[in-house]
Amino acid sequence: TSLDAVEKGINNAELDPENSSVGFGGLPDEDGEVTNDAVIMWGPKHAAGAVGCLKRIKRPISVARKVLEKTRHTLLVGDDATAFAVKMGFKEEELLTEKSRARWEEWKKNPKHTDFWNHDTIGMVAIDKNGDVTAGCSTSGLAWKIRGRVGDSPIVGSGAYCDNDVGGAAATGNGDVMMRFCPTLLTVEFMRQGMSPTEACEKSLQRITDKGYRVSACLVAVNKKGESGAAKIGVRPFPHAIRNPALDEVRTIR
Ligand code: ASP
Repeated sequence: TSLDAVEKGINNAELDPENSSVGFGGLPDEDGEVTNDAVIMWGPKHAAGAVGCLKRIKRPISVARKVLEKTRHTLLVGDDATAFAVKMGFKEEELLTEKSRARWEEWKKNPKHTDFWNHDTIGMVAIDKNGDVTAGCSTSGLAWKIRGRVGDSPIVGSGAYCDNDVGGAAATGNGDVMMRFCPTLLTVEFMRQGMSPTEACEKSLQRITDKGYRVSACLVAVNKKGESGAAKIGVRPFPHAIRNPALDEVRTIR
């Protein structure tokens, strides 16, 4: 199912110690703690589960799925989300790797260090043979963020959103600004009005620039017909992958 595909696909990035922006090996907050945000939204029931500022657990999207399937809540946060994960059978583990700890120490001792550092996140949208849509998003958030910061990624309609009648969308970029616009909700609503996935992504990013923000923000979207699209604003290139029976391709918007 698309639900399994999104969970397992995102797990790949979360468990990769070389990926410094998701899960295990993600860059920590300013105090050296890795905290993760994730959401998974499942079309058939229009249900979602999410975790914010989750600590010491390696597969945040799977904990989000437990919130979706085992509770009537949508979002759990912080150490209490960790306690929930442990109750669900997850193991508490160190998420800093030698490499990510070294990068934090280097940042810490640089007197001119910049406060935040933009990086990637994984967002996924899948549609399965039954036509069911799932969207998900997982990130360790901005590196060196202030302790307690939760970004856009675990917020329904910001990090990811889907509607089983229309399609889904997922986001990456400057979450502090993006979450003020609910861009994945907007993208799905634009597709509902008949826009193509790419047009819908562009239109919803335009809301951000129209208000005068000059940030990096990227969206992917898939509609019910299985058509996909993407768009970005800002200077950073946006690589994204498309896989369907006809196509298996990584594209980059520069
Ligand atoms: N959106 C993520 C956040 O703000 C970071 C990113 O995607 O680069 O936490």
